[in-house]
Order: sequence, then C-alpha cells, then structure tokens
Amino acid sequence: MSRRTSAPLAAVILAGISLTPAGSLAAGASALPAPAAAAASPATSSPAAPAPTFCTASGRYTLAVHGGYVGEAHPDWPDTAVRELTRRILEHGRERLAAGASALDVVVESIVAFEDSGQTDSGKGSFQNLAGFTETDASVMVGSTGRSGAVAAMQRLKNPILAARLVMERTPHVLFVGPAGEDTLVGLGAQALPDPKSYYRPVAEPEADKNKGHGTVGAVALDRCGVLAAGTSTGGTYGKLPGRVGDSPIIGASTFANEQVALSSTGAGEFFIKRAATRDIATRVAYLHTPLKQAADYVIRDLIGTADHSRGAIIAISRDGQIVFSSTGYGLLHGYVTEKQAPTVAVKVE
Ligand code: ASP
Repeated sequence: MSRRTSAPLAAVILAGISLTPAGSLAAGASALPAPAAAAASPATSSPAAPAPTFCTASGRYTLAVHGGYVGEAHPDWPDTAVRELTRRILEHGRERLAAGASALDVVVESIVAFEDSGQTDSGKGSFQNLAGFTETDASVMVGSTGRSGAVAAMQRLKNPILAARLVMERTPHVLFVGPAGEDTLVGLGAQALPDPKSYYRPVAEPEADKNKGHGTVGAVALDRCGVLAAGTSTGGTYGKLPGRVGDSPIIGASTFANEQVALSSTGAGEFFIKRAATRDIATRVAYLHTPLKQAADYVIRDLIGTADHSRGAIIAISRDGQIVFSSTGYGLLHGYVTEKQAPTVAVKVE
C-alpha cells in the first residue's frame, strides 16, 4: 500500500494548500548553506510558502544554540567535532543574521546542520529506541505571531525540523505524529528516507555510546526585525520505549517563543512536559516581570531540578539582548553569537 497521502485526503484536510513533489523541501537544505543559497532554499521559495523576510531595521541580533545536556561529567562529552560543528553553525548564523535573514530561517538552518551531521541526538545521529528503530521529534515557533509546528515519533523523515516548519507553514495544524502524520508531510514535500535503517547511525555498543557527544539540539534567534524564533530537534532519550514522545515537540514544554523571549530545552523531557517549563519561564517574565535568568533558574533548578531522576537545561534569549543558560547540573553544550560577540562555545559546568 502506498504511504503517500492521497489527493482527496489532502484536499479535505489541507483545503487551499497545494502539494509539492515529495523531496523538494529538503533539497539543498542539508548542509550549512552559503547565505545566498539559503535565501533561495526551496523550504522558503515554494509558491505556497511565505516569502523569506529580510530585515535590517535594527543592528542587534542574537543566535544561541545547544547540542544537548548530559547531567554528569563524562570524558567524551562533548567531543571536539561537536564543539567545532557548533562553532561553525554560529559563524554561519552570524553571517545570515547580519545580512538580514529571519530568525526562523536561521533557527531552522542551524538545526538542519546538527541533524545532518550525525554527531548529535537529532536527525541522522538520533538514538534508537529499545526496539532498535529510530523515532524523531522536533518543533519550531515564531515569537511575533505565535505560529508553530511540530512532529513526533517520525520514523522516516530526513529532517524533522524541516517537517515541523512544513506543519507550521503549510497546514492549519500544530502537531503531526506517527505514520499517518509522515504520510501527510511527505505528500507536502518532506523528504522521506528510502531506507531509514541504513541512514541512522548504528548503535553497536549502546552503553559505551551513551553520552559520547550526542545530545538533543536547539536554537533560538533574534533577527534584525526584532523577531524571535525557537526550535528543538531530538531522537529522544537514550533507551526510550517505542512510541515514547518527550518534550522536544511540545510547544511550551521545550520550544517556546513570544515577543519577549525565545527558549529551547534539553534533558529528561517528562519533567519539562509536566511543568510546561519554557512556557512557565516566559510567563514569569511576562506577568511577574521576573528577570529572564531568575525565572529560568527557578523553573529549571528549583522546580525541575528537585524532582527525583530529573535533569535538564534550557537556552533562552530576550528581545532586549539577554542570553541565558540554566541547567540542573554539569554538561550543557551551548554557544552564542551576537552583533558584538564572536561565536562562543562552552560547556556549562554547574
Ligand atoms: N528532551 C529530550 C527528550 O526528552 C531528550 C534530551 O534532551 O536529551 O526527548
């Protein structure tokens, strides 16, 4: 049986949205693109997709990324290659934001680069579940409009973050899951892997592999229009049960952006879901006027960090230029760049 979405189904669910050939979305978007190439990426040049927004109204821009969190000291975390990849992603993001690219474009491009690297627990490098196959989750959100899209438990989409963007831009919905969700998204142009098993990295020695430079990834950006965006992508927690979905595709648990702040999380997703963690941080900033760092530390350390078996971290930026990293303990791989600050990559030690 064909797994492609049938035309009548697409017509009913996606009234008014024209389908594009399968595979067109990801073409040209798999590596860190040159600025000009990225601006013309099929992900944003499809007739039905909004035109890319280039804006140079303000001189200020920020990009912060994370490559996951391990929670305890580990000699192999993070390995040199992941650090270097993070630095290159920040370099690229700086060029793009300086040239006026949208926060959304830069967040998505940053995450695509992590996904395609095979060096993080996202896209190609995703952990397998306990049944021995890979299920990926991702989400994206634009702060100025609240537009968001997400995918969960995807088994054959090459770039989950591009699929999440597709949900946001090409459907009236927010979250697509499982095989039926994949069928719809492939019908809309998401790139399907012909042989997922051979694409995802084999986990030959699971215990030895654990924490070996592999973490969930996320990005938050402020563009020169003053718009914030956030995104997160993962293969989920190590040794998860088949069908388990964590926080990464849940708007307000992991990814969140509004007009003031943009956030992305990593860690034990169940706790972030139960606490609606990133939404809680943003709400404290909005309603209680709590400084971003204080709100983040309260939710991450005092609420999430005190629960048994809980651990995790967030990256956050604000429209007024704050950059915040908060974690329950050692090991958040993170980096940032601004109009004034060269790319900086570090591991958070407390
Ligand atoms: N938060 C992710 C999840 O729960 C995993 C991680 O960040 O390590 O799926």
